[in-house]
This record gives sequence, C-alpha cells and structure tokens, in this order.
Amino acid sequence: MHITADDLIATLRINGLRITDARRAVCGVIARSHGDHLDAATIHDRVNRDLGTDIDLSTVYRTLEALEEAGAVRHAHLGEAAVYHLSEEQPHQHLVCRVCGSTTALPASDLTGFLASVENLTGFVADVEHFALWGVCSDCAPR
Ligand SMILES: [Zn+2]
Ligand SMILES: [Zn+2]
Ligand SMILES: [Zn+2]
Repeated sequence: MHITADDLIATLRINGLRITDARRAVCGVIARSHGDHLDAATIHDRVNRDLGTDIDLSTVYRTLEALEEAGAVRHAHLGEAAVYHLSEEQPHQHLVCRVCGSTTALPASDLTGFLASVENLTGFVADVEHFALWGVCSDCAPR
C-alpha cells in the first residue's frame, strides 16, 4: 500500500485547503518521490515542468506545511534546505559526506543500541532522522 497523489490530495481537502492544479501537482511530485530527497526548490522545478507553467514557490511551501501538519510527510535537514519524506518511509539516519556530498541512509532500527544509551544516560529521546550526521564516507576516507 503506497501513498498516492490522490491520498495526499484527500489529506489537503480534509484539512480545508482548496484543491488547485498547483497543489495537485505538488502532491503528484511528492507521491513519486519514494527514496528521493527533494527540497522545496526541487519540488517547485518538477511541478513547473509537469504543469508547463511557473507556480508561486510559496504555494509549494504552504502545501508541504499542510501535508506535514496532517502527518502525511515529514522533513529532515541534510544540508541547507529541508527535504521531504512520505510518512510511510521507514525512519532513517542520513549520513552525509562532507567531501563528496553523498548521502547514505541508515535505518533507525540499526541505531537502537545508540538511542538506548542516549536515553539511559540522559532521558533524552532523540529524533534520529531530523538532522543528518556529517562525516566522511568510505570512498573518501583516507586509507
Ligand atoms: Zn531520507
Ligand atoms: Zn526541521
Ligand atoms: Zn564521500
């Protein structure tokens, strides 16, 4: 069962947003984004390509905000801009290489030991996906 553009459009409608061609196109781009890390500017470009027009970037932001408030998408920070995941994607930690810029996804389930020690030591419940871990990937590490 994958989230479809129609599911996202229904979510917007339930939340009282008027369904415009632009919002419909934003939903279409996000529904196709499985595993991609799309920021608002990239979503904007794809929507403009799909519609053959130039929609307002603020429409993209407002649509993403409404979808996030409704729990249909969530965001993470890999670098400057926030990227968006469908809520059905498994939570994961992003490992970003500061040399080549590549991103590796590590399932949150592989970090249960680390998360348990953080919580035991401090009582802090970490949201592993929200911010990326920066470092050097195996290709770029000096050997
Ligand atoms: Zn991701
Ligand atoms: Zn954030
Ligand atoms: Zn690298």
